Amino acid sequence: MTNVQTGVREVGLYINGEYIKASNGATFEVKNPATQEVIARVSEATKEDVDRACTIARDAFENGPWRTMTVAERCAKLRRMAEIILERKEEIARLDATDVGKPFHSAVQHEVPRAANNIKFFADFMEQQGGEVYPMGEEYLNYTRYEPVGVAALITPWNVPFMLTTWKLGPCLAAGNTAVIKPAEMTPLSVSLLGEIAKEAGIPDGVVNVVHGLGGVVGTALTTHPKVDLVSFTGSTATGKRIMKNGADTLKKVSFELGGKAANIVFEDANLDKAIPVSIHAAFMNSGQICLAGSRILVQRTILEEFLERFKKAAMELKVGDPQNVDTKMGPVVSEEHYKKVTSYLEIAKEENATLICGGKRPDLPEYLQNGYYLEPTVYLTENPKSRICQEEIFGPVVTIIPFDSEEEALRIANDTDYGLNGVVWTENLQRAHRISHSVRAGTIWVNCWFVRDLRAPFGGFKKSGVGREGGHHSLEFFTEAKNICIALK
Ligand code: NAD
Repeated sequence: MTNVQTGVREVGLYINGEYIKASNGATFEVKNPATQEVIARVSEATKEDVDRACTIARDAFENGPWRTMTVAERCAKLRRMAEIILERKEEIARLDATDVGKPFHSAVQHEVPRAANNIKFFADFMEQQGGEVYPMGEEYLNYTRYEPVGVAALITPWNVPFMLTTWKLGPCLAAGNTAVIKPAEMTPLSVSLLGEIAKEAGIPDGVVNVVHGLGGVVGTALTTHPKVDLVSFTGSTATGKRIMKNGADTLKKVSFELGGKAANIVFEDANLDKAIPVSIHAAFMNSGQICLAGSRILVQRTILEEFLERFKKAAMELKVGDPQNVDTKMGPVVSEEHYKKVTSYLEIAKEENATLICGGKRPDLPEYLQNGYYLEPTVYLTENPKSRICQEEIFGPVVTIIPFDSEEEALRIANDTDYGLNGVVWTENLQRAHRISHSVRAGTIWVNCWFVRDLRAPFGGFKKSGVGREGGHHSLEFFTEAKNICIALK
């Protein structure tokens, strides 16, 4: 079986270097959220299929050449993988646009090149790592090696499927581990290509495997499997808790990137010409389905009127439409179920007496998009930072503006959340920028910018936004075991 592209794509499980059907022949459908058309039938793994994938990955780890080949050889294959991703970037971006509903131009210009770089970066980074040697005179040689851990389960969400999977796969493979990937069941198409891309790059069969299906079934089978050593998970906080419990019996090493509800704090001395367009981007990129979204916009009361007027105008001007069109800035949300969740917050906002500034309804769209899961960019104003729309991760194109009077109040509101993934500060005052950056309890703070990443930097969350850090040596620490060796020389 191949990854056939026809009108309706057929997507197999990828185990031991080939696409195969599920052992019981079961499939599930994937729809285009812009139109509700069925775009793919995907093989749904049984527990036995997951067991097979884990057994193959274990065997490839223990007995295959991947773990023992030189780092240079392994990393050359990864660099080839990155090149193939770039060669196929239009195809991959088109799949994510059709599957997730994200604008194609954004996927092709940003996400897929970043995905290629995730692989290349960790190949280059790994090659520069050495072990450590501790001089102990003439009698002993004492040194440390960083060895791969074993079989990694890489479990990813639907919002940025391909890029987020490569963010895990790059360091996982560079360190010499083998992988069983489980993409989100709503958006499995682009990730499924990683199998054939790895093969074309010369990565041995069994090193990269992909299984599809529901989190509760396939995800649970993976995270309880005795042959899986570590779980790298990106997704919701609720699922993170479940995985931690499920992995406890077999004591899995875990790394979690979870939800967020970032405060985007705009002080009265902010440069609004920059703060407004970037805050719009932070609010509505990927239809607001971004863990890093600046979804609580805290605005100093002295500039509230001007901010509201300009932010509203910019939100209403965002071009909502077909993700495949070059001028589209915002597509639909990912699925019917998610649309219901997101729009339920419109009712909650009403009950909480938030003021609707703009949006809150379906946009006017051409006939062929009438069934799509679209919502206009929606902005509320509230004086109640404890309300549900300010506390819960809506994960859609819905943001809340909260006025504040003083720096202390802004900080109190910013930290009054279970989440701590990131924060954003807009000010021209350097001292204040540092003060706020040090006091907001979150893993990343952006000052006068948003979503600027250096892959060497740590990425992860405080509080319920995560466990551990990814990026640079943080990723490699997770995907390796440090081993100390002491040899008597005399
Ligand atoms: P989700 O937790 O529902 O699903 C994520 C993945 O976990 C999917 O592949 C799913 O099938 C799987 N899964 C579900 N239940 C499982 C279980 N019991 N055991 C194992 N796997 C299971 O999340 P989602 O709705 O796909 O994604 C949105 C969430 O992801 C949001 O909360 C968002 O903030 C978060 N997210 C975080 C980051 C980050 O870097 N911190 C990045 C992107 C998304």
